[in-house]
Amino acid sequence: MKALLERYRDLLARDDESFPITLGEGGTPLIHARRLGAEMGLERLHLKFEGMNPTGSFKDRGMVLAVNRAVAGGARAIVCASTGNTSASAAAYAAAAGLPCHVILPAGKVARGKLAQALAAGARLIMVDGNFDAALSAVRRLGDEGVAVVVNSTNPDRLVGQQTGAFEIVDALGKAPDALALPVGNAGNITAYWQGFGRYADAGHTPDAKLPRMLGFQAEGAAPIVRGEPIEAPETVATAIRIGNPASWHGAVAARDQSGGLIETVTDDEILEAQRMVVQLEGVFCEPASAAGVAGVRRLAADRRIGPSEVVVCVLTGHGLKDPDVVQAEEGSLTPIPPGFAAIRDAMGL
Ligand SMILES: *Cc1c(COP(=O)(O)O)cnc(C)c1O
Repeated sequence: MKALLERYRDLLARDDESFPITLGEGGTPLIHARRLGAEMGLERLHLKFEGMNPTGSFKDRGMVLAVNRAVAGGARAIVCASTGNTSASAAAYAAAAGLPCHVILPAGKVARGKLAQALAAGARLIMVDGNFDAALSAVRRLGDEGVAVVVNSTNPDRLVGQQTGAFEIVDALGKAPDALALPVGNAGNITAYWQGFGRYADAGHTPDAKLPRMLGFQAEGAAPIVRGEPIEAPETVATAIRIGNPASWHGAVAARDQSGGLIETVTDDEILEAQRMVVQLEGVFCEPASAAGVAGVRRLAADRRIGPSEVVVCVLTGHGLKDPDVVQAEEGSLTPIPPGFAAIRDAMGL
């Protein structure tokens, strides 16, 4: 398959622009979730599994464009603040580009797999004793002062690249879905998807030019947009959306209001339950934040706010392997037993 940025070149590229750096991002599967859908009473539920991107999250769609342009613009280094996946992605694309990558991350709040990815790729990590929002404001200033190119979603190339998720969904379904559900953290992705659906329709690539309702979900302990004010100390098991003052707040509100959609909260228990359901009914292992959209759709379907035959796509934003610590073994299941056939057969309970 052609590289992502080449595939949608007509909508993304400036004149004669070339994109030498690619890790094979995009082209992720859209999976018809038959068993999960049946459980929720939805016949046409689909999962867009963004965990299949090169670094295991949708961040690669925008990072590839941001890093290609940073290189073309003569950047000396790139920098980001990150709850994890942005740093994993930035570190990988910086390595491929031969650029130093600096990551400012909030102390103690990053999933293990993501940290390993950034370290392995040689990013320089600076941990700060503060939350994500504090880290991002320092990064913005580094960008303003020309120290390094910022590759957070405040970089417009990030959101432009992320629009490709919407393009791919329309291509796969042959039309836009009735509703698109996703987690909302810094709110860049909901903004990018909405702009992407609009752009694809305007360009004549979406049959009947229909647009989906945008359904965004924040964790209850980190829901500034739902509450209507920044949250000082956001708290949730879904670390990728543990954000108290989203950079793309206005974009998210525009996506919600223009699409006739909504942004609501889900609890951490609902998120973890949805994560389990997705992997145990569909075999697709996503990280907790990714399951927020599924948890939200589950509630809306139960409340009949989504109809049984509507085409619904949940964006599973990142891979479950990034955050293995949230998966707990059943009581006693990892206590060794004698290795004989009889004992093993007995333990199987069959
Ligand atoms: C970044 C991220 C989010 C949040 O996306 P925003 O664009 O910040 O709203 C959700 N899930 C995962 C896995 C992420 O990496």
